[in-house]
Amino acid sequence: MNQFAHITQKLTQQPHKWLVTGVAGFIGSNLLEALLKLDQQVVGLDNFATGHQKNLDEVQRLVSAKQWQNFRMIEGDIRDAETCNKAIDGVQHVLHQAALGSVPRSLNDPATTNDVNISGFLNMLIAAKEHQVGSFVYAASSSTYGDHPALPKVEQNIGNPLSPYAVTKYVNELYADVFARSYGFYATGLRYFNVFGRRQDPDGAYAAVIPKWTAAMTKNEQVAINGDGETSRDFCYIDNVVQMNILASMTSLESSQVFNVAVGDRTSLNELFDAIKQALKQQGIDYPSEPVYRDFRAGDVRHSQADISKAKSMLGYDPKFRIAEGINLTMPWYVENV
Ligand code: NAD
Repeated sequence: MNQFAHITQKLTQQPHKWLVTGVAGFIGSNLLEALLKLDQQVVGLDNFATGHQKNLDEVQRLVSAKQWQNFRMIEGDIRDAETCNKAIDGVQHVLHQAALGSVPRSLNDPATTNDVNISGFLNMLIAAKEHQVGSFVYAASSSTYGDHPALPKVEQNIGNPLSPYAVTKYVNELYADVFARSYGFYATGLRYFNVFGRRQDPDGAYAAVIPKWTAAMTKNEQVAINGDGETSRDFCYIDNVVQMNILASMTSLESSQVFNVAVGDRTSLNELFDAIKQALKQQGIDYPSEPVYRDFRAGDVRHSQADISKAKSMLGYDPKFRIAEGINLTMPWYVENV
């Protein structure tokens, strides 16, 4: 039995109480679904800035009525310290996902991204320390590697941030370190690399590449690639991310740590376009067009690929889903929901 199977078995036998911030969003709602299916008690916190009630409704349909009763939702903002305190009361594990994502959003409105991602994060960290929660795991980001050229990305080698968003995620890590040193309170940062899967929002100016292209191809609209299409990413299917959150929460560490969360593969945007096209074909959607190429996007990192050996050795991380499998699992959801 691998480490994840062992931990989930233990959790099912003796349920814990969790707080998931950003619970109405893409990653948060998938964490909620996984935890409820393991019969855990979950408090959710979200202000619906980019998350949706329909994500929570979908989770409700996917779990039993009894499991859904283990969920309590708080609509509120992490920028309000009192709300954070209220949400965290009596909780053993915090999975802090709430933030404003997207590099372009942060370039258009750095102040709001800063307020939510730094002040909101600090509110959560203080509340977690004061309530002496058992674990605090937060969504960090691969954008912290910035302009560091080395591939694959190893946790200790980071460069200069390339966007306000990247600054905020790096500051989260700095605060986690300082809280460890100053108060002996440890937090674990998960540097997500381009996560994708069901319930990732395809709408709006700040949609991520996989949902945006999938929606466009499903509706027979044009797909635009920023740059020459050889920009590459380590795309990570959501179930790998769920596994890392649970492993990181249930593993005792002697300091604040950060871990890459990815697969260790590198896929170019041109390859991604072909993979989505093929997967949609299997769903009966034949996209007839080629993509158009436009300028590179400001703030974007050129190549990204993770070294995941630290997560494997310290947490027993074992990513089951590579990109092709993840895309095949994701497409039916988009075909049904777009
Ligand atoms: P998402 O936008 O779907 O989810 C974020 C959630 O946080 C939303 O439900 C939103 O309403 C909520 N939120 C935003 N501001 C809030 C506030 N002030 N108070 C309370 N709730 C608030 O995005 P996601 O892709 O699920 O991202 C989750 C986390 O993972 C974020 O911290 C993001 O920066 C990080 N991350 C995501 C990726 C990725 O590829 N999706 C990559 C790196 C890091």
